[in-house]
Amino acid sequence: MANASISRSQPVKAKRSPAKRTLTQAERFARLGLHNDADFMLHVPLRYEDETQLHDLSQIRPGQFVQADVEVTDQHIAPGVRRQLIVQVQDHTGSLRLRWLHFYPSLLKQLAPGQRVRIRGEVRDGFHGLELVHPKVTQADQPLAQALTPIYPTTDGLRQDSLAKAIQAAFSRTQLTDTLPEAIRQHFNLAEFAQALYTVHHPPKGADQQALLSRTHPAWARIKFDELLAQQLSLAAAREARRQQRAPVLQAQSDGSVSSLVAQLRAHLPFQLTAAQERVVHEIHADLQQPYPMHRLLQGDVGSGKTVVAALAAAQALAAGYQVAVMAPTEILAEQHYLKLAAWFAPLAIEVVWLSGSMTVKQRRPVLERLAQAEPLLIVGTQALIQEGVEFARLGLIILDEQHRFGVGQRLALSKKGEQPTKGGGEAFRPIQSSAEPQDLASVASSTVNSALLPHQLSMSATPIPRTLAMSFLADLDVSVIDELPVGRKPIVTKLIADVRRDEILAYVAQQVAQGGQVYWVCPLVEESESLQLQTAVDTHHYLVEHLPGVQVGLVHGKLKAAEKAAVMDAFRANQVQVLVATTVIEVGVDVPNANLMIIEHAERFGLAQLHQLRGRVGRGAAQAVCVLLYQPQLSADGRARLRAMHETNDGFKIAQYDLELRGPGEFLGLRQSGQALLRFADLQTDAHMIEQAKACAQLLRTQYPKVAQAHLERWLQGREDLLRT
Ligand code: ADP
Ligand code: MG
Repeated sequence: MANASISRSQPVKAKRSPAKRTLTQAERFARLGLHNDADFMLHVPLRYEDETQLHDLSQIRPGQFVQADVEVTDQHIAPGVRRQLIVQVQDHTGSLRLRWLHFYPSLLKQLAPGQRVRIRGEVRDGFHGLELVHPKVTQADQPLAQALTPIYPTTDGLRQDSLAKAIQAAFSRTQLTDTLPEAIRQHFNLAEFAQALYTVHHPPKGADQQALLSRTHPAWARIKFDELLAQQLSLAAAREARRQQRAPVLQAQSDGSVSSLVAQLRAHLPFQLTAAQERVVHEIHADLQQPYPMHRLLQGDVGSGKTVVAALAAAQALAAGYQVAVMAPTEILAEQHYLKLAAWFAPLAIEVVWLSGSMTVKQRRPVLERLAQAEPLLIVGTQALIQEGVEFARLGLIILDEQHRFGVGQRLALSKKGEQPTKGGGEAFRPIQSSAEPQDLASVASSTVNSALLPHQLSMSATPIPRTLAMSFLADLDVSVIDELPVGRKPIVTKLIADVRRDEILAYVAQQVAQGGQVYWVCPLVEESESLQLQTAVDTHHYLVEHLPGVQVGLVHGKLKAAEKAAVMDAFRANQVQVLVATTVIEVGVDVPNANLMIIEHAERFGLAQLHQLRGRVGRGAAQAVCVLLYQPQLSADGRARLRAMHETNDGFKIAQYDLELRGPGEFLGLRQSGQALLRFADLQTDAHMIEQAKACAQLLRTQYPKVAQAHLERWLQGREDLLRT
């Protein structure tokens, strides 16, 4: 095989041999994921033993792996519950004790006093001084090994030497070509591939073991580079596939109507956009004029003003005659967007409609009928927008708020909603399939190439994604960042207060309300039981009503009917309710600028990202905002660390970085199944610099050496590219 495919996804070849022992070994290999030659060659050592040199007994230290040619000076069997073989040896520099807890009689002969032998093992500091327990014994005065000896990860009953032999056999059967031409290797300063891989298995005498173990050795660099390169190539291919797709060009009409609608919306805003908002508006504006779908992620810390950016994008699509869908993960947030967008667009004579899961069939019907007409309109809603039966006649743009809260499947379902025939843009769509899985992405991409118009997509998130993650897993997304808050915001002051000081808190709340402020009181998360959480919220509400006479205290939780929720939120927004007791239903996106104090009970129970999101509900107006984190004393170390992080910083990026460290990238991105499994050798944290290089190399290969790019992908990612397309 000239170009071994390095993939673990190949099925186990059934062994036909009836010999039981062979079969067992194949099964053991299978347990290690070793099926084909490539698997064996990529089964890399855990560590090495150095048999390339001899040590003087006088120089050895505990923990060291030693090899020495010695002469046996004494041998005896120590009696006891378990008989032990004790052997004393010496060289010209010193002596050492060897010990066996079980042994064959042949060993006694091999280690008779006066014999010269070679011993190998790890030095231990035993009761009687330094010793080797169960050292390997071979003939003395043999030539030394020329390479370090690999020690592989193995499994029960599979011996190191059998494994090593099988790996060696795979190497000798395989003519491992280099996928990268000499010029590329030189340019990126890369070792030759076969050589690099072989070196990792059999590092030459004197090789830097430390560099090998920490995987910083040049041989390792080549392997990791290849892996990252394959990932970048695959992402680039996904991006190109998107460019082959068609989307409506949302361009200024000859009468300038697009720009005029956008301009009108701007004129109605009660504030000036920040420079950062202007920049991202510009980026999105340019994307929407391309004939292929935009996939842009808009990142900005909580309160940075993403909604208005979305509204301006919507205006551009609406003016070009298209429908726009805005989807939010919770009903409260969706409703708030609905209210805000309706208020912004009403003066511009743009229809804004609402669709949620709690609407009756009868309530939905007129909405669905409107969607089926190919007229510009803005629809805001929850996951209800991607349910079966919802069909858009002319969807030009979809906006996903708090995108990290949606699964890959949901995001995909929404984008499929937008498929429309290229000709005669007014017809209704063919029905969509429900619950698409991530793997379907490739088929969606290929089946829709040049055959349908896809909507543009704008996702928004307050969770900043560290650059290395974004580059390696989300490289098919363009990212815009709002990196400044509107002027006049004062950083939120976060106070950590032990739960016992509840009276003080009550007095503080009363004082805030007396001064015209409003307050969120967030009830503790009770993960085990939703009904318990509800009970706590109800109790807290009673308690506050009782202790805050003359103050209107509202209650909102997940079990309320949508209309009840909406009524409470409306009252809070209108300052008819001054204190809002809430469960985490208010976690994302809610925006009531007059609310400037937030109390979070049992803050130690919340995750870091969740606390940051919750806290982001205050500090949206000009007044000084305060967030009080009430905690139960006797914090766990983890809980303490989270609260401290919240106290120390308001910076969403720092918090996300910390969260990433706590939870790991797969969890962080919601890519558990696809993200992590894809990188076997490279490490996003330590090999960040290499990602840039791999990206540059991918670019070069795709433009100048497309065949090389193809061969490289085939070797590394056979059958796995689809997983990268999220
Ligand atoms: P997020 O990015 O968290 O979604 P929002 O879009 O809800 O933030 O905006 C937070 C608040 O800031 C809202 O009340 C919004 O109207 C206001 N806002 C947005 N942009 C500006 C700006 N440039 N100047 C002043 N206030 C702004
Ligand atoms: Mg928001």
